[in-house]
Amino acid sequence: MVEGPTAKAYAIKISQKFEGETVNDIIVKSKRVFIEPKELLHKRFNGSDTLGKNIILFFEDIAIRVHLMMFGSIHVYELDEPLLKPFERVRLLVKGARRKLVVYNAPVVEIDRRENILNRLMSTLGPDPLSEGWSREKAAENLTRFGKEKVGTILLDQSVIAGIGNILRNEILFRAKISPEREVESLSEEEVKRIIEQCELLSREFLRLKVEGKSIKQNLYVYNRYRGRCKFCDNPLRFYIQKPINRKTFICENCQR
Ligand SMILES: [Zn+2]
Repeated sequence: MVEGPTAKAYAIKISQKFEGETVNDIIVKSKRVFIEPKELLHKRFNGSDTLGKNIILFFEDIAIRVHLMMFGSIHVYELDEPLLKPFERVRLLVKGARRKLVVYNAPVVEIDRRENILNRLMSTLGPDPLSEGWSREKAAENLTRFGKEKVGTILLDQSVIAGIGNILRNEILFRAKISPEREVESLSEEEVKRIIEQCELLSREFLRLKVEGKSIKQNLYVYNRYRGRCKFCDNPLRFYIQKPINRKTFICENCQR
């Protein structure tokens, strides 16, 4: 699953590689096209940004929202370069004067007026640690709205904090030393602060590494470390599937309370 930092790194790369292009041709295979695609012709590319895990491509008053989920990817090619993947997998192809932008396999490609795309996203997503509108206070307020639900479940809810996926969820709770099984209402103010702070720090750290083209593996203290040991206390880590979300969960039972 593409998490916030990966989406943001994609957006930064696309903004650079597709800069200065104007739409000469567009092919889109999606049910979520709310305007006539040919309206995009001759529009100028104004860059790309993200909200949570959504990548948004801006073309003047029109925007394209892409959600890559598990298998989607975005590439920018020279105009005469062959596609990396079979044409059947293309969901979106935008041709400029020098380059073409191609989205493969993404389950969501949505085209609409810029303000419609942004309004829909902002009304459904919580604050995003990688966006200008980020607010620790708002994030804490959203999180503590929940009472009996587990913090490990709530952290994946995009309407609470946008951009957190399963890797970040595991690493955030480990560093904050909070068990994913804790009910939200049992968290002290200080514990909530610790969680929110780690959301911010880790999202930014992962983004920095991805932009530099580095792996985040060195920074994964628990995720996918099936026989690993705790960085803090050296106890063996425990792996289980957290219910009801059925997500891979890695914890140190000694440190995370
Ligand atoms: Zn430990």
